[in-house]
Amino acid sequence: MENIFDKISDVLMFREGTEADEYGSLIPVLTTGSIVWGIMLRTVFVVFLSFVIFYLFDLYKFVWVVLFALWFGAAYPGWRQFQLFNERVKKVVESTLCGSCLHFEKSSQLCKIYDEHVTQEYIPCEGLNWEPLPYEESK
Ligand code: SF4
Repeated sequence: MENIFDKISDVLMFREGTEADEYGSLIPVLTTGSIVWGIMLRTVFVVFLSFVIFYLFDLYKFVWVVLFALWFGAAYPGWRQFQLFNERVKKVVESTLCGSCLHFEKSSQLCKIYDEHVTQEYIPCEGLNWEPLPYEESK
């Protein structure tokens, strides 16, 4: 059974749902959209919690603390996840056929034809639908 603190940490750091597949790499459940969604959700959560705490303890003169809470609770973890996501996409682009394919969507690590995520071990079309990127985009 997974440790409860690991679980909470996964949720707070956007890692929930990014399980390792049989080859040990991450399944790209995490995409640009899910990170943006996570940041928005955390922002709402932090603002709501702050209002409750400020109201209960009459701490309105410390309202600037909310900015720190937003940075550490939402913006910074989201920014870190964008970095990790971009590193992962870069590896996929460099090591798979999809990286040079017209139908590959980098922002979601997705094949636009099959509407499936691409990983280093999984290419949905197995190369059959590969089409080269235009020369200007391949540089
Ligand atoms: S068409 Fe094939 S090569 Fe191109 S992105 Fe989709 S799975 Fe990858």
